[in-house]
Amino acid sequence: MAAPSHRRSLRRRRFTAVSAAVLAAGTGAGVFVLHAHAAAVDLYHQTLPAKDGWAASGTGTTGGAKADSAHTFTVGTRAELVKALGSASDTAPRIVRIRGTIDANTDGSGRRLTCSDYAAGTGYSLAAYLRAYDPATYGRSKLPSGTQESARAAAQNRQAEQVEFKVPANTTVVGVPGTNAGITGGMLQIQNVDNVIVRNLAFSATEDCFPQWDPTDGSAGNWNSDYDSVTLRGATHVWADHNTFTDAPHFDRANPKHFGREYQIHDGALDITKGSDLVTVERNRFTDHDKTMLIGSSDTDSTGRLRVSIHHNVWKGIVQRAPLTRLGQVHIYDNWYDTTTVDGYAPQYSIDSRARAQVVAEANYWTVPSGGKVAKLLSGDGTGSVAGSGNLVNGTATDLVAAYNAASSKKIRTAVNWTPTLTAGLEPAAKNLPTSLATTTGAGVLQ
Ligand code: CA
Ligand code: CA
Repeated sequence: MAAPSHRRSLRRRRFTAVSAAVLAAGTGAGVFVLHAHAAAVDLYHQTLPAKDGWAASGTGTTGGAKADSAHTFTVGTRAELVKALGSASDTAPRIVRIRGTIDANTDGSGRRLTCSDYAAGTGYSLAAYLRAYDPATYGRSKLPSGTQESARAAAQNRQAEQVEFKVPANTTVVGVPGTNAGITGGMLQIQNVDNVIVRNLAFSATEDCFPQWDPTDGSAGNWNSDYDSVTLRGATHVWADHNTFTDAPHFDRANPKHFGREYQIHDGALDITKGSDLVTVERNRFTDHDKTMLIGSSDTDSTGRLRVSIHHNVWKGIVQRAPLTRLGQVHIYDNWYDTTTVDGYAPQYSIDSRARAQVVAEANYWTVPSGGKVAKLLSGDGTGSVAGSGNLVNGTATDLVAAYNAASSKKIRTAVNWTPTLTAGLEPAAKNLPTSLATTTGAGVLQ
């Protein structure tokens, strides 16, 4: 961890640059203070500041900042978004400005598509699926297979073709201020590409019409869905900044149960898996969601990768995975976790360190309602580490690992194998985060 004196000198330099930039730009707007280096650059062309987390490593993250006019788009419909994203083979710098909310479940003429539209012609129906794979007759030892499972997969593929948006390398996808910019019902897929920026977008209602039953998942089986609002798979140099994530308007409390288990239509909000690396997740609002952020999709996801910085985000109404970390070096600082139950989302834990994850969690603020247990803010499998100090619970300095370990048989380790150095903007004091982050996070803040 950076020595305090080093941090102070970093901040001093930063504030000097801020003053000059603010004077030059003739504005004192707070958002310019956050990205002082780019005060003269518009929202669409801004790049990740130097040393701002793991995504600043090496070549840094510039997205589509160098886009020419032929690769600069403003889009307002699903069809326009697909066209603007082009193909994975065209890696010319690209800026895609989203104006208003794009509904992923709409056809070329803007007609709203329903789950029934995707299922039509496949032979799938939930009633038939439930009859085919009822544990009372099908058992619990094997995954569904056969006519109804094939039909379900076919219907799911049809929805996937509609709602998955593949982002090519060297791209900035950014919301136009003042337009409620975002994507509803969709998934931005950043897969096996480098250098992507996602900013100022509200992601909502990413839902799978066709959850799959897995009787072998856990002790009682689970319904699993595809589609994260934003998914990173084998992606490098990604900056997710000032976005909002929510399940609204369909909250999990409305999900029915089948086979005694919640029929879960949501997957992750922002998942970082399959060897993704060098990611900065900054000033987002994660709200009203269960499985929020997965870093590493299995205990063998990849080694030497999954390096992620997560700072100045708000997590409110989150059940779990904020984040769930595996294998990687993950820096979690200056976040505000509000563990009050919101819209029926009752928190289970915030940070899970497993599969030898090397987490540094420092200067975060937890709001815990009366009756909430500090020992349950963390989770682990006995192999993960969590280091770091300066964490506050309801304003009081708290050793979260000590509290967790005192109540758990699978202890979290406290030694980590690395020291964060890409820490621009790190505030060692968490005390004011609930106030400062309330107005400086999520979509709609940037101008
Ligand atoms: Ca899943
Ligand atoms: Ca996922």
